[in-house]
Amino acid sequence: MRALQLVSAGVLEVRDAPVPEIGPDEVLVKVAGAGLCHSDVHVLHSPEWPIPGMTLGHESAGYVSKMGNDVTGLAEGEAVLVYLVWACGVCRPCIEGRDNVCVNAGGRDAMPPCPGLGPDGGMAEFIKVKARYLEPLGDLDPVTAGPLADAGLTPMHAINGARHRLTPGATVAVIGVGGLGHMGLQILKATTGCRIIAIDSSEQKLEIAREHGADEIFLSNSDTAAQVLALTDGYGADAVFDFVGVQPTVDLATQIIAPDGALRFVGLGGGSFTYAADSLTSTIPWGVDVRRSYGGTRSDQRQVIELAKLGKISVETKQYSLEDGKQAFADLEAGIVPGRAILVP
Ligand code: NAD
Ligand code: ZN
Ligand code: ZN
Repeated sequence: MRALQLVSAGVLEVRDAPVPEIGPDEVLVKVAGAGLCHSDVHVLHSPEWPIPGMTLGHESAGYVSKMGNDVTGLAEGEAVLVYLVWACGVCRPCIEGRDNVCVNAGGRDAMPPCPGLGPDGGMAEFIKVKARYLEPLGDLDPVTAGPLADAGLTPMHAINGARHRLTPGATVAVIGVGGLGHMGLQILKATTGCRIIAIDSSEQKLEIAREHGADEIFLSNSDTAAQVLALTDGYGADAVFDFVGVQPTVDLATQIIAPDGALRFVGLGGGSFTYAADSLTSTIPWGVDVRRSYGGTRSDQRQVIELAKLGKISVETKQYSLEDGKQAFADLEAGIVPGRAILVP
């Protein structure tokens, strides 16, 4: 089969790879589409990424092609989504429904294994998955559904963890309207009665934000914090989701979060802020709760799929062939992919 692989830091190649052999509890999925996440760009350029020859792609969907002998509850040809978080399922966090922070992931800052970030991922003709990590998609089209596994899941988790501030009429700011942000916007629109402010450095992304229900849009620049504060009588946004995580967006997020607000950092762009316990130098107001949000739980995943089935959220996609994968990476880095790039093998 053909597979888009990470050969070494910064080097991608479509290579021939064997079709994976499946064990008794595994399923061979014929990939219909695999989303390209900005995390793939971070991985591509990371000199430390440990697995040269790994097939990328952690947002895949497709059709059940072959099932191991012990697999039940799935049918050949059925459309399925590959859940991102391959957690153990039996540790304390897992049984409490916090599988995204599985204790067996390997340490305090480790992620449970994710396809395309360790095990081979979905930017290939086939992917091998344990049956228990598959979610049936029903009538949803697997060509475009893959991003529900991260661009949908991750914002859903961050939003679910901030529900206490997402009361009707509250103001919420979404920073970064890319793959994750454009899904986050739609989830907020579909599940809250908040006033939604979208902020991005690209006019094109702000157009997309407008189409997906943003009430206010702001181009990020030195005036943005003042504009958001002016809109909220100087108080700030009750919840802020930073889907970028670079220094300017982290600074902005801390400047516009309201007292008692929910501040959620999702983007991994390398920004930071300093916590100070005194009022003189604190960068955040009283009562703010900050979360470094990772991925999502199985329950978050089901909610995302249900909203998609109801037609309340959808992934805006631009499709590329596997062979055009390098171009998709270049377009994503250039910031010109609307919504999510999908590689169709
Ligand atoms: P993307 O490239 O699709 O979107 C990023 C958006 O941010 C773009 O619209 C871009 O125009 C905008 N942007 C860039 N710089 C900006 C700035 N200074 N101010 C305002 N907007 C700016 O990326 P994505 O796939 O949505 O991923 C976003 C981030 O989230 C990445 O860092 C990715 O690694 C991370 N991520 C984290 C998790 C997690 O679990 N925490 C999961 C998936 C992705
Ligand atoms: Zn991702
Ligand atoms: Zn676990």
